Amino acid sequence: MTVEGSTTVLRTRAELREALAATPRPVGLVPTMGWLHDGHRALMQRARQEDATTVVTIFVNPRQFNESADYTRYPRNEARDVDFAGQHGADLIWAPPVEEVYPPGFDTTVSVGAVAQPLEGAARPGHFDGVATVVAILLSLVGAETAYFGQKDAQQVMVIRQMARDLAIGTAVVACPTVRESDGLALSSRNVHLSPAEREAAPVLQRALLAARMAFDAGERSAASMRERMADVLATAPLADVEYVSVADGLTLAELDTIDRPAIASLAVRFGTTRLIDNELLDPGTSVD
Ligand code: AMP
Repeated sequence: MTVEGSTTVLRTRAELREALAATPRPVGLVPTMGWLHDGHRALMQRARQEDATTVVTIFVNPRQFNESADYTRYPRNEARDVDFAGQHGADLIWAPPVEEVYPPGFDTTVSVGAVAQPLEGAARPGHFDGVATVVAILLSLVGAETAYFGQKDAQQVMVIRQMARDLAIGTAVVACPTVRESDGLALSSRNVHLSPAEREAAPVLQRALLAARMAFDAGERSAASMRERMADVLATAPLADVEYVSVADGLTLAELDTIDRPAIASLAVRFGTTRLIDNELLDPGTSVD
C-alpha cells in the first residue's frame, strides 16, 4: 500500500478486500487502464453521484492487447493518474501489479459468445477474452453494486453485460455517454500517439457518424446507404485508413439491411499506428420521422 497525497493506493487483493470491508455501501466501480482523461472523469463523477464509495482501478491489462507493441507503448503515468482520480472523487484506488490480477497458476479465460465475435472481436483476436476475463476478476473482487463503462467502447459494454449476466455477477453494468474534445474527437488515452496532422484529421470519425445521424433523422433506413455515406466522409481524410464501417443491430451486432430496430453505427479507423473507434446509436423508436 502506498499513500500519495490524501489518496491511498492499494496494490494487493488482500489490501483491496480489507479496505472494502470498511467502506460505506453502495460501492461504484470504475475500471480503467490509466492515462486518465475527462472520459474517465465522467465515469467517476457518475459513481460519486450515485454511490457512497467510488473505487477506481488502474491496470493496463496485458491479456486484452492483441498486439504486443500496443501494450508496450500504451501510455502510463501512475502518479498523475492517482492525483487525477483522487481529485475527481475516487475513494479507493487499486493499481495492482500483473501478478496480483493473474497470480501464478492462473489458468482461466472468460470467453463471451456471439456479441464478442464481430467488429472489434474480429479485428482484434483475443481482445474480448482479455477484457471479459479481467472485468470478471474486477467485478468479483470489488463486489460493487454498480460498475461504470464508456459508451465509446459500445461493444465492450455489451460483452461485459453478457458476461456479468451469464456468470450471475450481481453488479449492475452502466454505460455512460462518450466525452469528446471540442472538435468532436472522442477522448481516448491513445490520442496521445497521434501526430499533429493525424490529430487534425481524427475528428473525421465523428463527422462520418454525424452524417449517418443526419441521414437517419431525415428518414434514411437503408444500412448500405448509411455505410456508404460514412465511408464517403472518411474518404475525405487521406490519413484515415478505414478498418470497418458498420451499421448493426443494437442488441446482437448482426449487420443490418434495414434500420428497423435500435441500431449502432460504428467505425474503426487507423491513423498511422494509432487505431481509433467511435459509434453512434440510431434508434427508430426515438427518431423524429
Ligand atoms: P480505458 O482506460 O481506455 O480502458 O477506459 C476505461 C473506461 O473509460 C472504459 O469503460 C471506457 O469505455 C471509458 N472511456 C474511455 N474513453 C471514454 C470517453 N471518451 N468517454 C466516455 N468514456 C470513456
